[in-house]
Amino acid sequence: MNQSPLHAPPPARLLPALTVLTAALALAACGGSSDDPAPPPEQPVASSCEVNTGHGGIAVGSGVPGDPALPEPASPYRSGMLPVNAKTLMVVTANPLATKAGCDVLVAGGSAADAAVAVQMVLGLVEPQSSGIGGGAFAVHYDAATGTVQTYDGRETAPAAADENYLRWISPTDQTTPLPDRRRSGRSIGTPGTVRMLALLHADHGQRPWAGLFEPGIRHATEGFAISGRMAAAIAGASTDLLRDPDAVDYFLTPSGQPRPLGERIRNPDYADTLRRIADGGANAFYAGEIAADIVAEINRTQAGPAAPGPLTPGAATLADLAGYQALRRAPVCIDYRLHKVCGMGPPSSGGIAVAQTLGILENFDLSAHGPTAVDANGGKPSVMGVHLVSEAERLAYADRNRYVADTDFVPLPGDGVSSMLDKDYLRQRAELISPATSLGTATAGTFPSSVPMGSSAAEGNGTSHVSIVDAQGNAVALTTTIESGMGSFRFVRGFLLNNELTDFSVEPADGIVPIANRVQSGKRPRSSMAPTVVMRLNSDGSTGDLAMVTGSPGGAAIIQYVVKTLVASLDWGLNAQQAAGMVNFGSANGVTTNVGGEHPAISGATDPLVTGLQLLGHTVSVSGQASGVSTIRRLPDNAAYRWQGGADPRREGLVLGD
Ligand code: GLU
Repeated sequence: MNQSPLHAPPPARLLPALTVLTAALALAACGGSSDDPAPPPEQPVASSCEVNTGHGGIAVGSGVPGDPALPEPASPYRSGMLPVNAKTLMVVTANPLATKAGCDVLVAGGSAADAAVAVQMVLGLVEPQSSGIGGGAFAVHYDAATGTVQTYDGRETAPAAADENYLRWISPTDQTTPLPDRRRSGRSIGTPGTVRMLALLHADHGQRPWAGLFEPGIRHATEGFAISGRMAAAIAGASTDLLRDPDAVDYFLTPSGQPRPLGERIRNPDYADTLRRIADGGANAFYAGEIAADIVAEINRTQAGPAAPGPLTPGAATLADLAGYQALRRAPVCIDYRLHKVCGMGPPSSGGIAVAQTLGILENFDLSAHGPTAVDANGGKPSVMGVHLVSEAERLAYADRNRYVADTDFVPLPGDGVSSMLDKDYLRQRAELISPATSLGTATAGTFPSSVPMGSSAAEGNGTSHVSIVDAQGNAVALTTTIESGMGSFRFVRGFLLNNELTDFSVEPADGIVPIANRVQSGKRPRSSMAPTVVMRLNSDGSTGDLAMVTGSPGGAAIIQYVVKTLVASLDWGLNAQQAAGMVNFGSANGVTTNVGGEHPAISGATDPLVTGLQLLGHTVSVSGQASGVSTIRRLPDNAAYRWQGGADPRREGLVLGD
């Protein structure tokens, strides 16, 4: 064990007195407590799902000045956002109309699970580039009455007819890449999982009738909504690709073939009809009958439309793939981290294990001594050593992820599974590999007693949304929902886009002769990085206490870094929910670079002292924009006037609402 002062002695939760002292020092350094976020006095207070300007409430969607649903050009970073507090319930999503829909459900007595359904149906309309019923999702549910955490797997599946070469080549006799390329061919499109997963979540935890939860989505689709800045940018960026699909041309482009612009009000009657069918008929209305038939036909289409003619390599989807799709309850992946228990999504997502491993490694360091400086509403300036330690821990976690984690229904984890990968002795040994003076560069995966060699793979993309919800009973949902890349596969069916999630598989089935854990197999789910997370306090006897935090982010493989940053900023550095979401993104996926989000106002490009400080430790630093979309909620101290504090990522269009 490296005994540098950077290495904390035993985990802090074993040393309560020291922890209190450390927390007090962190408070002095960061302007917050390392446990309870203090509400700044001037912050806006959400009132019954309205935005409070300090001069009265503004209804979201009313169109009056100050309405956050009024479209604005997409900006890289909304500086100076303040956290929002609420008394009993809260919703944070990446779109104001979706947040409003969820908040209204909660105020009407609905549960967090109910609100998640309503939010998703609106997101699929107003943020179609990032998620929808044509995609997949993971949800982590916290049940306040029992303290139980349950996770839900709505990940897309490869069709039954897929083999390990499904993405790699057109056929054994034509070993060329699917046309026009993998993503845009039918091969990328997995059987959607979001609708069945929401139905399962609702069956377990819903309190309001299923059909009513579709009302906001149907209403906006029928009455129309104004195209937001990010949706307009997504359409403009995809306009050439959308040309291949006649339905997408009609919906996303003007009659003269231009991308529909920011602020244009559009209706989506096909989507309204689809939602009505699912509202009335349940998930089966999506997985069988006309909707399923149209999805299968689209996946298997062989020719693009007249606006951009050309061959499309078909997928191998069948009606049986749709009818047989199952959402699954999975055991959560949890780790005790200092004073908290952090729970997330296990395989087929790598998110929960990688976040937990990173935290378990970081627990061996006194991270509170390396918090940000010049802390402002945007979260301040990360310290060189804080970024170094977190990035190095992530390198080690990603090394294991890339080698070992895939759909465990097909490929077992090494050793005894999650318990081996999260074993505190193992993680301490991994922590010993971290030097305070030099970056690891690229870390190698750990070894486990019974691990079979598995080739490593690191593929992933963009196009996801995260939703955090707490209801009046204290139940919570962390929902990360995706169609994989922005605009998915660009295929549009009955008012919604189909995913390209199967590109999250490794294209190559083997690394030399060694099989890759995340290769394509019949019916398998591609590995994800999505990391919806809930955090509970640990009581002094080690038992699990109250809910403390709900969080998550989009961002492809970098999701793990965005979630770790938000957790560390909150739990170790005492930032409030908004500061934690807004803080500079940083970390490493175990590639050559360490990321420092150059879109943040605190980072002044490649000569920034944070960048040069990291370079002195041997890091190759990238200051490319880091497109997170954190939606986060924290519980305020029990004696505070408000119970929940929320933050929405300044890099997206999100909004926090509550009561
Ligand atoms: N498809 C990715 C995953 O499941 C997420 C893509 C994104 O966040 O944009 O990990």
